[in-house]
Amino acid sequence: MSHFFDTVPFSGIIRIRDMMYAVERPFRLDQGDVSFDAPETVKAAMARAIADNRTHYLQTAGVPRLQELLAQKLNAKNGVPVASPDEILVSNGGIHALFILFQALLNPGDEVIIPDPQWPPTAGAILSARGVVVRCPIHEPLGWRFDLDELARSVTPRTRVIYVNSPQNPTGGVLTPDDLEAIARLAARHDLWIVSDEAYEDVVFGVKHLSAASLPGMYARTIPVYTFSKSYAMTGLRLGYMAVADTALRDRIKKLLFFTTSNVSSVVQYGGIGALEGSQDVVEEYRAELQARRDLFYAGVATLGGVLTGRPPDGAFYAFLRFDPGWKDRCARETGGAPTTAVGGETSPSWELTEYLIANGRIGCIPGVDFGPAGEGYLRFCFARDRAELEGALASLRTIFRS
Ligand code: PLP
Repeated sequence: MSHFFDTVPFSGIIRIRDMMYAVERPFRLDQGDVSFDAPETVKAAMARAIADNRTHYLQTAGVPRLQELLAQKLNAKNGVPVASPDEILVSNGGIHALFILFQALLNPGDEVIIPDPQWPPTAGAILSARGVVVRCPIHEPLGWRFDLDELARSVTPRTRVIYVNSPQNPTGGVLTPDDLEAIARLAARHDLWIVSDEAYEDVVFGVKHLSAASLPGMYARTIPVYTFSKSYAMTGLRLGYMAVADTALRDRIKKLLFFTTSNVSSVVQYGGIGALEGSQDVVEEYRAELQARRDLFYAGVATLGGVLTGRPPDGAFYAFLRFDPGWKDRCARETGGAPTTAVGGETSPSWELTEYLIANGRIGCIPGVDFGPAGEGYLRFCFARDRAELEGALASLRTIFRS
């Protein structure tokens, strides 16, 4: 039996999810799932695919019509110069795309620079490929962006990839065009790949999404990764994709796609075709509603007397909030009995507050430290839940903190 995977940590998000199942009438602000349902265009296309018996094996890289639509989308919407539908590789969600991509890119010991804090499966995919995770902080006063000098200093002779995620999970930070140009220059100078995780490309508030792969000459060394999960509320259906210009890398990824899925579910791929052929109004409707929920949630947080603070993000759908280290003095209930979780042998303040909120307020959230050491002192709340659930969670927070 291989013990290697015992050394790859599981995300605390999974542990929180298990804890939430024990809570009656919970406020599920822990998981990054939208409360919307998939659009009719997707459901009708999947129903049609079933009725037409499109239930057989398919091409490993994806249904040709889906590849063709995605190649058009990348050119027209993202400004990525995809030359042929063959460059599109369809995956079982973005998480699968990242997993096989790092398997294809890394040799054991290769370093990948990622933001700190960062959504845990990124590090999981790198470690699973025997890579080395090099965390470079992103900073709250900079709008959760890199200090570009610090990023440049993170490059070593072992660096192979810079991973960027804009808009970012968990902070909602969005990289500026200047940031992306500087990162592109750094990658070109050191001959590095860029993995550009654009899962939240459509969840932006008052700013424009820009793909690193759209910068002049950068598609050759940049692999943009996307998902239908957030743009079309298809989290459980599992549909993602990436665009790869390099033929050798593409052949390697195709092998990994074949060994891990043979092909992504036929019916779900037809659902993706339905999403792209149908009206795109739904993407803007979801975005506008998420912006309203963001504003509702932050207005509520402002009534908590400063126990949780932070600036509303420009993208994604998470509130990554700093907590007052003296929060116990504000609590309506005794905190003496609150469990303190040991993480890596140390007491973690963000786990302690998370467990207190679950036990005493039925509020699910994720401890900031689960996203990396720079996330300690913060909690992540997902504001993509419906308004009633957000209001319930806020009322519960007000009761807990006597505000
Ligand atoms: N990348 C980031 C930053 C995410 O937050 C997520 C999902 O939460 C994904 C990729 C992948 O999403 P999925 O596997 O549902 O496509």
